[in-house]
Amino acid sequence: MTGKVSPINISIPLILTVNFIIVGGGIAGLACAFALQRIGHRVLVLEKDDEADQVAGGCRLPPNMSKILNNWGFERRVRDIAVVSGATFLSIYETGFLLGTHVWDKEVLKEVGGDFVFCHHKDLRHLLRDAAEGAGAKIRYRAQVSSIDPMKRSVTLASGEVITGDVIIGADGPFGICRELLTGGQRPKGASIHAFYNGSTIVPGEQMRKDPELSYFLEQEHHTQFAWFGNGHSVLGYPIGGDEDFAMNIYALDDGQGDGSWEDQVSADRLPTVVVTSERRLQKLVRLALPPARLQVTQQVELEDWVHDDGRLLLIGEAAHTLPPGSIQGSAMGVEDAAVLAKLFSHLKSEDQIRNFLYAFQELRQKRCSGVQRQELGNLMFMAMPPGPMQEARDQNMIQKHEAGLNVLSSDADSATEQWEEIKEMFGYDAEDEADNWWVEWGMLREHAKARAMEIRASK
Ligand SMILES: Cc1cc2nc3c(=O)[nH]c(=O)nc-3n(C[C@H](O)[C@H](O)[C@H](O)COP(=O)(O)OP(=O)(O)OC[C@H]3O[C@@H](n4cnc5c(N)ncnc54)[C@H](O)[C@@H]3O)c2cc1C
Repeated sequence: MTGKVSPINISIPLILTVNFIIVGGGIAGLACAFALQRIGHRVLVLEKDDEADQVAGGCRLPPNMSKILNNWGFERRVRDIAVVSGATFLSIYETGFLLGTHVWDKEVLKEVGGDFVFCHHKDLRHLLRDAAEGAGAKIRYRAQVSSIDPMKRSVTLASGEVITGDVIIGADGPFGICRELLTGGQRPKGASIHAFYNGSTIVPGEQMRKDPELSYFLEQEHHTQFAWFGNGHSVLGYPIGGDEDFAMNIYALDDGQGDGSWEDQVSADRLPTVVVTSERRLQKLVRLALPPARLQVTQQVELEDWVHDDGRLLLIGEAAHTLPPGSIQGSAMGVEDAAVLAKLFSHLKSEDQIRNFLYAFQELRQKRCSGVQRQELGNLMFMAMPPGPMQEARDQNMIQKHEAGLNVLSSDADSATEQWEEIKEMFGYDAEDEADNWWVEWGMLREHAKARAMEIRASK
C-alpha cells in the first residue's frame, strides 16, 4: 500500500511546536508520528529495520481502535485493507464441538462507536507509515538507535550519528533500549505461561478453499473469528486480506525452547506437533500454514515509571505496557497512546508544560493499560482451562445459551456474563475523550493557576 494521506482538516492553533524523536517505527511509533505531526509538531521516526524485512501475520483491530482511526479520517482506508468482523464461533479444541456463536450486536457496536476488524499486520503498518509521511513526519529506516541521553535529549545511531530533539519517545517495543533505560537494564519478564506461535502463521485461503472442511472458515455469512478452547491450548483464527488468507494465533504450553520474538520464524513443520491433541480441522490447517514466529507468553511485570526522572524520555506502546503476543488490544493500545499524547500536546504553549504532559500521559494510560493487560491474560486462561468444574461451568453456560438461540457471550434475561461486560467496557473506551477530560479537569486548572500567579507577581 503506498499513496500518501494528507493531513486532515484540523487547525488547532499551536503556540509552541517542538521536535519529537520517536525510537521505533512499529504501530505505536508510526501512529504517534502521525498524531503529533498532524497537530503541528515536527517528528522524526528512527526504525532499525528496513520495513520490507518485517514479516508479520494477522492483526485484530477492536472498536476502541477503529474509532480513533475513523476520527483521524482513515475509515475508507481501513475498509480497503480489513474485513469487518460479524461473529465469533467458539468450539472445543480437542473435538471441534461447537459450544456456541456470538454475532456482534449492531446496537452495541454503534454504542461503542467503532467496528471490530481484521487485517494483515503489515497493511496496518503501511497505512500508518503513509499517514505519518503524508502529514509531514520523517521516517528513517535502517536507523538503529544504540544509545540515548535523556538529559541532553539526544540519541546516537549505530552509525555514530547524534540526533537531538526536544522530546524522545521510546516506541521500540518490550525489549528495546528505551525500556531498559527506565528499568536499569531489566527485561520485562515474569514466569512463562504459554509458548505462542504466530507472526506469519497465515494459511493461504487458496489452499483452504480446495478442502470443503476448511473453506467453511472463510465462507460464513459474517467474517467470523473462530476460537478453540482446549486443555492448556487455545487457538484463534480469522480471515484477513479480504478473505484471501486465514490468520492463526496458536497458544500451547511452553516447551522451553527459547523465548523468540516477532522477528524469529521457526519451521512450519513444528506446528503439527504443537496441535497434536487438536481436532482434525486444526491439524489440517497447520499443515498448510506458513512458517510461524514463536513467542513466549509471560506474566508481565508492570513498569512503574514511563517517564525518565531527569530527562524528556517517555515510553509508549509495548515498551511501556507489554501484552501477551497476539492480544486483541496489542495494536490498539499503541494507537490509543498516540491519540492521548497528541491530545495533550495540542495544548502546548510553553516549555514548562512538557514534563507535565508526559506525566499526565502516564497517569491517563497506566490504569487503562493495566486493566487491559489483566483482561488479555484472563482471556487466555479462560480459553485454556484444564478439565474440572470451572471448565465444565464455562462450557455448560455457553451450550445452554446456544441451545436457547442466544449469543453465548452476552447477557440474557437474568445474567450478564463477566466476559461480555468486560468486553463492552474495553471496546467502549474513548481514549481521546479521556485526554480531553484531563485537560478540562486538571490541565486548564493548572494554566489558570499559573496565569494568576503571574498576575500577582506583576502587580507587586
Ligand atoms: C516485526 C513485527 C511483526 C509483528 N507482527 C505482529 C502480528 O502479525 N500480529 C500482531 O498482533 N502483532 C504483531 N506484532 C506486535 C505488535 O506490533 C505490537 O503488539 C503492537 O502493535 C504494539 O507495537 P509497538 O509499536 O509498541 O512495538 P513493536 O511492534 O515491537 O515495534 C517496535 C519497533 O521498534 C523497532 N526498534 C526496536 N529497537 C530499536 C532501536 N534500537 N532503534 C530503532 N528501532 C528499534 C523495532 O524494529 C520495531 O519496528 C509485531 C511486531 C513486530 C516488531
